[in-house]
Amino acid sequence: MNVALVAHDAKKKLMQNFCVAYRGILSKHALYATGTTGRLIEEVTNLTVHKFLAGPLGGEQQLGAQIEQNMIDLVIFLRDPLTQKEHEPNVDYVVKLCDTHNIPLATNLASAELMVKALDRGDMEWREVFR
Ligand code: PGA
Repeated sequence: MNVALVAHDAKKKLMQNFCVAYRGILSKHALYATGTTGRLIEEVTNLTVHKFLAGPLGGEQQLGAQIEQNMIDLVIFLRDPLTQKEHEPNVDYVVKLCDTHNIPLATNLASAELMVKALDRGDMEWREVFR
């Protein structure tokens, strides 16, 4: 499966810890991330991440294009609902695309953990049918 990972600045440490905790599962899948998030994940894990441009430089649009082309099976976007900065990608854009194309999306740690466990159980294999 193709898994996309994005974290707003205030959630990047959380994303790193999440990827360390679940690297056993994540390592079985192809990982995509906006530039900074991807680099930070690679710094703390031995995971290989396909990195788009940094979010504010167009990485979010690159991710969006992948979603539109049905190339992404799961999106984990750890958003910061409280202190989102002007330069940070608009989470609404990704949410809209996921809802348009019926792509599973987690926007907080609790749902991200559920989804990654579901991924490991094979619950997302229905996505194969759509590709
Ligand atoms: P980044 O993009 O991973 O490149 O930082 C996401 C963001 O800007 O919050």
